[in-house]
Amino acid sequence: MTRRRSTYRSLASLKRDEAVCRACVEAGYPLESLPVIAPGESRRAYMFGQAPGIVEGQERRPWRGRAGQTLRRWLAMEEDQFYETFYCASVTRCYPGRAPSGRGDRTPTPAEQELCEFWRDHELRLLHPHLIVTVGGLAARRLLGVKSVSECVGVRYERGEAVAIPLPHPSGASSWLNVPANRERVAAAVELIRAELARF
Ligand code: SF4
Repeated sequence: MTRRRSTYRSLASLKRDEAVCRACVEAGYPLESLPVIAPGESRRAYMFGQAPGIVEGQERRPWRGRAGQTLRRWLAMEEDQFYETFYCASVTRCYPGRAPSGRGDRTPTPAEQELCEFWRDHELRLLHPHLIVTVGGLAARRLLGVKSVSECVGVRYERGEAVAIPLPHPSGASSWLNVPANRERVAAAVELIRAELARF
């Protein structure tokens, strides 16, 4: 049963309620997992992806599948360092299931994205991250209002007191990463992330 308070004083109480959220199921959406929760309470940086994949939905931990391995390779981070550095969240936090076409995972509907924004907003208020890394086009659109990954990858944004740096989604499902100029954009974004992480 979904519990939502008007305010949260600690990340621990927020995560307790988030872990049992079924707001999308209660609204009639066909979710296939319970929420994937960020391990630990890292406050160095906030990572904001699209939605968990099937592996993450089963393990209920973020970035456990192949896309997570690619992401860590881009960032040159081992698993421990990655999870110690980033508080991993996403636009929606439950595995959305397969797309009706059978190709890939279902993109959460705008209504599901809005239902889940509740958790993101409370997290950002409690965490006050210096660095936000968005991963994939949907996350960059929701958080930064940009139109496409080509427009934003390799660019440094300011969002309130935080610096925001977008990355593309590392799933390999899109051909965007096959274009040499786009791979250069990813390398530039990684350099920006490393420079920000070195600052604090
Ligand atoms: S996707 Fe978000 S809002 Fe929807 S049930 Fe999962 S945690 Fe709750």
